[in-house]
Order: sequence, then C-alpha cells, then structure tokens
Amino acid sequence: MEPKRLDLQKCIHCGLCLQACPTFVERGEEADSPRGRIYLMRAAVEGQIEWKQAAPHIDQCLGCLSCQTACPSGVPYSNLIESARAQVEHHARSPLQRFIRRTLIRSFTTPSRLNLLLRMGRLLRMRRMPIPVARLLGAPETIVKLPTLPKTKWQPQSVYPAVGERRARVGLLLGCAMKTLFPSVHQATVEVLRLLGAEVIVPKRQGCCGALWAHNGYPELAKRQAVSLIKVFESVDYIAVNAAGCGSTMKEYTHLFEDSRALPDAESFSQRTRDVSELIAEWGIPSGLKPVPMRVVYQDACHLLHGQGVHSQPRQILKAIPGLELVEMEGADLCCGSAGIYNMLQPDMARRNLKRKVKHILDANPAAVVSANPGCTLWLSQGLHEAGRPLPFYHPVELLAQSLLEE
Ligand code: SF4
Ligand code: SF4
Repeated sequence: MEPKRLDLQKCIHCGLCLQACPTFVERGEEADSPRGRIYLMRAAVEGQIEWKQAAPHIDQCLGCLSCQTACPSGVPYSNLIESARAQVEHHARSPLQRFIRRTLIRSFTTPSRLNLLLRMGRLLRMRRMPIPVARLLGAPETIVKLPTLPKTKWQPQSVYPAVGERRARVGLLLGCAMKTLFPSVHQATVEVLRLLGAEVIVPKRQGCCGALWAHNGYPELAKRQAVSLIKVFESVDYIAVNAAGCGSTMKEYTHLFEDSRALPDAESFSQRTRDVSELIAEWGIPSGLKPVPMRVVYQDACHLLHGQGVHSQPRQILKAIPGLELVEMEGADLCCGSAGIYNMLQPDMARRNLKRKVKHILDANPAAVVSANPGCTLWLSQGLHEAGRPLPFYHPVELLAQSLLEE
C-alpha cells in the first residue's frame, strides 16, 4: 500500500495546516509539518529519496489529523499517513523491529493478553513499563504508567431489549482497551441506548477493529480484523462505538478494502458505524434528567474531532445535564500526545504535548475531565497524577447514564 499520487498532488503547499500541527508547533521544522511530510512522501513515491530518509519524520507524526481539518484543499491525510507508515514498516525497519512492534500491538489488541499483562504487572507491583522492554521498543526513556484493571467485571448479555418501542437494532463494539479497562462505559452505553429505543446486541466473539494495526503500518493485519468484524455485525442497523480511535478506523474501512471484492460490505459497515454521541444526538436526549452538579472540561479526542468530525454532539449531551458546568479549555483541538502507542514509541514528543494539555486542563479549573477515548483517558490521568493534581475522568455517556438512571 503506497500513498496515492493523486492524493499527494491535492496538496497545494499553502501552509494553512502548519499551525494546526503539534509537531510543527513544537519543532518549527518544515519536515515535521504536514506539508513537509507530504513532500517527503511524494519524493519517496517518485523514487527521489529512500523511505528510510522519510521515516524519522513519518514516525514523529502523531496521526492526530488536525491538519486534515485545517486543509482547504481536501488532502486525505489519514489515508496518506497510513499508507506511508506501511511503506516505512516495509522498507525502513529491521525484521526484529517489526517483530517487536507487532508483539506490542498484539498485546494491546488482545484483551486476554492485555488482562494477563496488567495482572502480572500488579502481581509484581510494577507501576511502570520495565526499562528493558522500553529499550527493545527503541524508547529507553519511556515511563508509561501501567493502568490498573477495574475492580468489577462486566459480563454482558448477548441481547438487551429496547425500553418501549424498538427503533433500531444496534450492535455494540466492545473493543480491546475499553472492554478490559473501562467496562462501566459499556454498561452506560447499553443502558442509555436501550432507553432511547435501541435493541442492543453484544456479540461475544467480536475481536478487534484493527485501528492500531492500520495506524501503525500493518494494513493487511487490520484488514483481517475488519473482515471478521464486518461479518459479526452484518445484521444490525447501526454499530455503536464509544472509543474514538476505533470509530474513526471503522468509518474508513473503505480505504483498507479499496481494491477488494469485499468493498461493498466494508462501505455498508462504515456507513452504519456511529459514535455513541452521534446516535444520542440524532435520536434526542431524553427529558427528566437529574442534576449532576460538577464543573467539567471536555477533552476532544483527535480521532473523534478530526477523524470523524464529531464536535457538537458530546457537548450537546453534557450541556443537557442539569447542574453540569461545561467549561472549554484552551487548545482543546490539539492532541494530548497519547495517539495509540505513539506515547511509547515517541516519548519525548508525546510528553511535550501532554505537558501542554495538562496545563490547559488545570487552567480551566475543573472537578473532572470528560473524554471519549480510552487512550486519552489513561495518558491524561498519568499526566495529571504526575503534576500532583489527579482528577476523575468520565465518558460523556457515563455522565448521561448517571443523570438518567440515578435515584
Ligand atoms: S497528523 Fe497531526 S502530527 Fe501528523 S502532520 Fe497532521 S497535524 Fe501534524
Ligand atoms: S493545508 Fe492542505 S494543501 Fe495546504 S499545505 Fe497543508 S496539506 Fe497542503
């Protein structure tokens, strides 16, 4: 999979994306800007440079897609960076580096392995990733705090009937991190959707959406995951997602299946995929909400805001909750630095972005942070903890469920 020349040629070099790019803002280098990366991709595709030369700048890209939102020329940066990463994995990494990266992604995308790893970490009283593992990843200064597993497990039913008249059959994507670390978000999603008239289907054997594979240069492995997910959800009206990174990839399956006979199925799947906030906003927020008195800031996950264009819906939900005060923070649209496994592979740039975001959160003086992506939640929790100002985190749907359901 190579970046398409036609997509590369859409860039008119206007530079309107530069100030939207966190790596350009930090480094001030053209090669670490969207325009510079597109230029490097084009040079590599045309054979003027080796992919190895472009690799450090492609690796520095957070994949936050802020440039895609800023671009007036419609450059499909998401497709370009995914294709460029596939080329970098193929041409610029050693077999050992590829093996380690695949092992890392596999650990995060297999809930049983993630569960086991975190349990082992807890057993050994490890609070941080062991240095030898970080070194193998090529990131010796990585100090990623290991998340803790939730105390209670959620054993979902396969079907939850709608409350009242059924308006749609909705399949719930369990995902990998969300299922393992934040089952309360799934419980809240099911309860809210049922109250809005959805029959919620939760297939047990549904697997991963392939987002981490697609974002890190392994489109064939992403495609393999996508094939089984498309099959699992073939009979539902909508697929509800409550993790931004997963939803963004699922809405872009067409890119993975471009030259495949399965393209129509992928298109149908993507068209039926909705972030849970989109479904709630589309169907209407129910009346009779109880107060949740709290001052919160909302963290825009890049793959929700820039990847899916979802900006107003989560805010609509939060504003509808009586007593909840939503304050906007400065730089809400800039990446927090988490970016999937980026924070482990590029810790310096990830931490610069984290520091800026933590400052903006604290400046807004909230009692809690609202985030619709597990990666942002874990990474920002770590940043706030290290700053000595830990705060609770909620998914918008958890606050809505609390407002709807609590006595
Ligand atoms: S995806 Fe983000 S980090 Fe990468 S070029 Fe675009 S704005 Fe910059
Ligand atoms: S805004 Fe779009 S067209 Fe302009 S330089 Fe950036 S990517 Fe190219």
